[in-house]
Amino acid sequence: MHEISKAEEVVNKIKKELEYRPDLEKVRIVLGAFTFMEPTRFGYWIQNLMMEREIDEKITVDIVEGKGSARCCHCDAKISSEELEQQIRSTDPHHPVIQCPRCGKFSLDFEEGTEVIVEFLD
Ligand SMILES: [Zn+2]
Repeated sequence: MHEISKAEEVVNKIKKELEYRPDLEKVRIVLGAFTFMEPTRFGYWIQNLMMEREIDEKITVDIVEGKGSARCCHCDAKISSEELEQQIRSTDPHHPVIQCPRCGKFSLDFEEGTEVIVEFLD
């Protein structure tokens, strides 16, 4: 499943960072708007994997939803993730159907917000 493999990737990054920075206390994970992942569920996988890999629970992991933007290949409109949010929420998250709010075509290219970003804070 997509979510679990992403979570695994993130936990591997955290583990690697800990080799260089054993005093790491805070990690922030930004889920791009177009990853279609739910922070609570993603956090659940992260916690599980961290326990499994015996990563110190002192580390605080914050998971936040990021933004994103898309461009329509048909009319060239640039659309923000906020604009598309309603539409995305009302479709199946595994197969989101997203139309251009300007011209109604199904030809959006996601430009930003498709990544899961890991930030290491103090
Ligand atoms: Zn369009």
